[in-house]
Amino acid sequence: MKSYNSFSVAQQQVEESARLLNLDKATIEFLKWPQREFKFTIPVRMDDGRTEIFHAYRIQYNFARGPAKGGIRFHPDETVDTIRALAAWMTWKTAVVDIPLGGAKGGVVCDPRTLSQNELENIARAYVRAAADILGADRDVPAPDVYTNPQTMAWMMDEYETIVRRHQPGVFTDKPIPIGGTEGRRDATSRGGVIAVREACKYLGIDPTGTYAIQGFGNAGQRAALLHQEILEGGKLIAVCDSRGGIYNPSGLDPEELVIHKLKTGTVLNFPGAKQIPRDSVLELNVDVLYPAALENAISAHNALNIKARIICELANGPTTPDADLILHENGIFVIPDILASAGGVTVSYFEMLQDSGGDFWDEATVHQKLDKKISTAFKAVYDAIRDKKIHPRLGAMVVGVARVAEACKLRGWV
Ligand code: GLU
Repeated sequence: MKSYNSFSVAQQQVEESARLLNLDKATIEFLKWPQREFKFTIPVRMDDGRTEIFHAYRIQYNFARGPAKGGIRFHPDETVDTIRALAAWMTWKTAVVDIPLGGAKGGVVCDPRTLSQNELENIARAYVRAAADILGADRDVPAPDVYTNPQTMAWMMDEYETIVRRHQPGVFTDKPIPIGGTEGRRDATSRGGVIAVREACKYLGIDPTGTYAIQGFGNAGQRAALLHQEILEGGKLIAVCDSRGGIYNPSGLDPEELVIHKLKTGTVLNFPGAKQIPRDSVLELNVDVLYPAALENAISAHNALNIKARIICELANGPTTPDADLILHENGIFVIPDILASAGGVTVSYFEMLQDSGGDFWDEATVHQKLDKKISTAFKAVYDAIRDKKIHPRLGAMVVGVARVAEACKLRGWV
């Protein structure tokens, strides 16, 4: 099977959208590379008294529209190129939803499943000690990503404030609510994705109350399972998988019960009434909506031909490879691309920054309503680009995002 370098994919996406936008050579070259890259080695004291050295990154892709913004993930497979790609996608993502932020991503190469809470806290704090001078509410604002969460942000914010000796809640987002977090952040990524599905159903004339399946059952997958039925006022969840395997029930799985089961047992397997199926077959079922909510490159040329969903909503970052994109498009499957489908998280992160800087906190209904407006407006901009330029949805979203970033670079006189 072909393997993909995510950053080469991200660079190709820039080139393809730049061609459609007739961007000049210098702008294209500029947008194909991160503006700043940082690599740290961080020494961490482990529970058994050893010191272990971890490799860590922060890549600030683009600042033209505002401070860099994006998550920090703890994952054993991270490389400089995966982080570069994810930082590029954050740049287009913040531009597609039109919030005044740039794009960034960070990572620590580690396996959180083998680490204690104490060791995770030591890693989080060591990361901030290494990176403090490049972070800030007006420089670069991290958030959680794969295997990091609000508790990670709480440790990081505390370490940062200890270093700068100032109250600085707006330097990290998706914090716990009692220390400057916002209402509505926990389910924001999934809520944004489901709102985009609602809009897609409206524009494409698809009945929103059909079947759906979810690949990956972490935070985003679980919330999507619940929110799909709430926001679309119906729908039947028929299959789900996590890293241990898949489950299927054509008469429907109860999302609430399933989330409880997953939290209790650590897996979706052995859920009462469901049949066990191979993990990857969840992607290939006959459903109206499919949510890939795990890692990169899950849908490739290898399985794209077998996919039967009508709409794919990419809650994960980069789940579809470029050749798979073309196959899906030829088969009439509408892909809501990650930079739109998963933009709800960073949108509410931006709302959190606004609340932290103003010291005035909004209720949940206000956050939901503002998020709905941002995602629906972004969906329309992307849909218009798809229709006007007769291009596939990912290219439509890229064209919208890249055009906005290129315009900001030009106005600043950079290119
Ligand atoms: N990690 C999330 C993403 O990939 C959120 C980023 C943020 O809130 O800054 O979109």
